[in-house]
Amino acid sequence: MALTGIQILKMLPKKNCGECGIPTCLAFAMKVAAGQTEIGECPYVSDEVKEQIGEASAPPIRTVKIGAGESTFTTGGETCLFRHEKRFENPTGIAVLVSTGMGDAEVDGRISRFKTLRYERVGVLLKADLIAIKDSNGDAAAFTALVKKVLDGAPDAGLILMSDKTETLKAGTAACGERKPLLYGASADNAEAMAALAKESQCPLAVKGNNVDDAVAISEKLLAAGLKDLMVDTGARTVKAALEDNVLARRSAIKAKFKPLGFSTITFPCEITDDPLMEAMVASVLIAKYAGIVVLSDLQGDVLFPLLLERLNIFTDPQRPMVVQEDVYSINGPAENSPVLITCNFSLTYFIVSGEIEGSKVPSWLLIKDTEGLSVLTAWAAGKFGADMIAQFMKKSGIENKVKHRELIIPGYLASMKGELEEELAGWTITIGPREAGHLPAFLKEWKPAA
Ligand code: SF4
Repeated sequence: MALTGIQILKMLPKKNCGECGIPTCLAFAMKVAAGQTEIGECPYVSDEVKEQIGEASAPPIRTVKIGAGESTFTTGGETCLFRHEKRFENPTGIAVLVSTGMGDAEVDGRISRFKTLRYERVGVLLKADLIAIKDSNGDAAAFTALVKKVLDGAPDAGLILMSDKTETLKAGTAACGERKPLLYGASADNAEAMAALAKESQCPLAVKGNNVDDAVAISEKLLAAGLKDLMVDTGARTVKAALEDNVLARRSAIKAKFKPLGFSTITFPCEITDDPLMEAMVASVLIAKYAGIVVLSDLQGDVLFPLLLERLNIFTDPQRPMVVQEDVYSINGPAENSPVLITCNFSLTYFIVSGEIEGSKVPSWLLIKDTEGLSVLTAWAAGKFGADMIAQFMKKSGIENKVKHRELIIPGYLASMKGELEEELAGWTITIGPREAGHLPAFLKEWKPAA
């Protein structure tokens, strides 16, 4: 059971020295209990206490890392059943399958699509995360050659090595070096040998069950062997069964603290259907309901992009709006006679407004005022986007040194603020912009600074 802050405090040295970066031991204990910092940040805690607190404050779904360095893929770390209760921590990994049974052109195409199908939305890079490399004919040399091809072709891909043969996986793992792959998988027949390989190579290991009971039995065996970094495949190969198993595993881990299922699941939409659109639908169901990884048969933009957007929506923190930094943004190379616009720092607003300005090709200055991530009207209603605050921000922004004119374009929804803002901003004329960002290009093309 998770420890409370007070229980953790009792085990701390209570020096209140601040070396952990937090002024008091009490505040530090509260942060550890909330999962906001690690017990290891206090240099005075013994290894024994570290282990005790670390285990007790660990999330019910274990955090597991695949790979190394900047491109490490992290899964698990989940603490709730529903996003609104807190937040979901680590987005579902999207993987594409390649196998030794495929021709070179097919493999090259998938690697190439892994590298090129990347999108930037609201300042976030959206892309697939992993490549699953499958041994489909028991040929260790061919498998290792394929692993090397993926390592060279996709340097930032997390790797999943799939074979029933321990020796084949061992050869592939050796080729991966520091890029620790996920080993798939430990079945009832090979669990001991796979456990030994995972221990020796320090790689995470996937349980490969035929059903939930089978997966639990294998997981218990691996836990007893001292392994900690696991993922679970319950063997479900219909969308109904995969969905039910994912929900069962998450509920068992969170509600009943059932250790054998306290791991992310790895799921295979690629083995559930041959129809690409149906596969996308299956993947979308499993992303929405708890899959740690979905393995797809291929990557195509029309399927991948909606899945990435779905994932982005589910894994943003519902308690913290996405924001951009308060600043003056120059768009299309503005000069001293370019229009000056202002809006809030809710990232969706920023990206929509800046996108429309960019599309208009009119050089412009866009002022982004910190409204704590609230949208225009909400921020105004909450007193975070009032005339006095806008005036204050305008003065400190330095925009007066960048333009010769004194005309500010405000969002159409804030029309009622015009008079008040003109009083606060002596010397400036306030122009009411359009209500909808989509009307900005036409508005800006017509705009001329007041004489
Ligand atoms: S470093 Fe340790 S002893 Fe010092 S304040 Fe932090 S928790 Fe307390």
